Amino acid sequence: MAAGAIRGSRIGSGPMGEAERGEAAPRQRVQYFCANDHETALMFSVEADVPDSWDCPRCGLPASVDAANRPTAPKTEPYKTHLAYVKERRSDDEAKQILDEALQLLRSRRKSGELIF
Ligand SMILES: [Zn+2]
Repeated sequence: MAAGAIRGSRIGSGPMGEAERGEAAPRQRVQYFCANDHETALMFSVEADVPDSWDCPRCGLPASVDAANRPTAPKTEPYKTHLAYVKERRSDDEAKQILDEALQLLRSRRKSGELIF
């Protein structure tokens, strides 16, 4: 962010005496900082209620006006699905055993003439 980028901006009438009445309301530049080090500058009317946080348009994370206190990223690490946990917990042997039991149950039901589906 280059210093002096807002040089020349002013509120009130300028040296040329140009009337600023009727122009858009004075604006303030508000910067938001997200956990990914993105800076987002937004312009708000000075009369607007500036929100404390804003969704970063680059990564979607919540961004805060306070660079030193950025919102932490929500837990978006690839989490395991329930099935993945089940597969991890069960060894292949266990899985085979479960399958065998299911097959036996299926066969026994067939023997008794019970309809499965
Ligand atoms: Zn971001």
